[in-house]
Amino acid sequence: MRVHNFNPGPAALPLSVLERVQQELIDYRGTGMSIMEHSHRGKAYDEVHMGALALVREVLAVPASHEILFMQGGAHMQFALLPMNFLRTSADYVVTGGWAEKAAREAATVGKVKEAARAMGVRIPRVLSLDPKADYLHLTSNNTLEGTQWHDFPDSHGVPLVADMASDLFWRPIDVSRFAMIYACAQKNLGPSGLTIAIIAKDFLDTARTDLPETMRYSAYAKALSLYNTPPTFAIYVARYVLEWMKEQGGLTAIEASNKEKARTLYGVLDELGSFYRSPVERDARSTMNVVFRLPSEELDTRFIDEAKKRNIVGIKGHRSVGGMRASIYNAVSLESTRALATFMREFAAQNA
Ligand code: PMP
Repeated sequence: MRVHNFNPGPAALPLSVLERVQQELIDYRGTGMSIMEHSHRGKAYDEVHMGALALVREVLAVPASHEILFMQGGAHMQFALLPMNFLRTSADYVVTGGWAEKAAREAATVGKVKEAARAMGVRIPRVLSLDPKADYLHLTSNNTLEGTQWHDFPDSHGVPLVADMASDLFWRPIDVSRFAMIYACAQKNLGPSGLTIAIIAKDFLDTARTDLPETMRYSAYAKALSLYNTPPTFAIYVARYVLEWMKEQGGLTAIEASNKEKARTLYGVLDELGSFYRSPVERDARSTMNVVFRLPSEELDTRFIDEAKKRNIVGIKGHRSVGGMRASIYNAVSLESTRALATFMREFAAQNA
């Protein structure tokens, strides 16, 4: 039995992808072994690897000006590698939540960091204090813990714009050319954990430091087509099928429409029952990926989670740093699951108000 899975990441994967993986697990396409058991330098895996890279480029419309890298270490490793490669004088960070703060803190161990704005949780800042000489400007496109999201990106006035898109890459089409670099871990919209993706403009990459250990240099991964060392082969294999699934859905334009519909379904309940459920987030900053809300008391929080579980609704407890509830509605969470949660929320409010 499959549950309504609102986990924040690792998160729900499309059932059709899981079934395909299950089917091929023991014997990948007549090769007599699973894809996990293939050499990363062999023909079977090479086709998976190059196929996945090509699909990222196609689905996300990544222009030829940008490299796509498959890496490991999660978004956390990117918090460190980004400044190690590119922070020379100082970097601007927009601090909009716990992850943004951690990114800035890690960068500060490498060099000088300035806060371009701080708006924890509730809203997305409109006014940034930018240093025109900054090495880059960093923002977190979706604040997974707090449930806020940038719906349009700021003008960085020529400073290379870098975004942590860990929890919203692939939620809709984006203009990749506006970014010097985008990074994301896979375990929200793209696949299992273990894979991290970095998309870097070639001209930005050319400015990276070259005095780092090779394994820390983005250029090493770019040069080796992300086969610098053994990549997370299984995660890439699953991600390739998730990318194919995205295409089957009609690509990111169709996925955006579906995500917006899911978000409307849940925020609609919050607006309708505002005297019971509280949304701490300003309307124009509402995340389409993580819907954060509070109940009137902690006792009701606990009851809400218990009752939800009885209806096979799981993964809705908020992050410990924020509290309350958080329903993550990444790409693979169906409208049907979202409606099941909305119905439950209405009934729970009626019974407990
Ligand atoms: N940034 C954001 C916005 C995230 O949501 C997460 C994971 N929840 C991270 C960074 C950290 O990712 P990882 O655990 O893969 O290092």
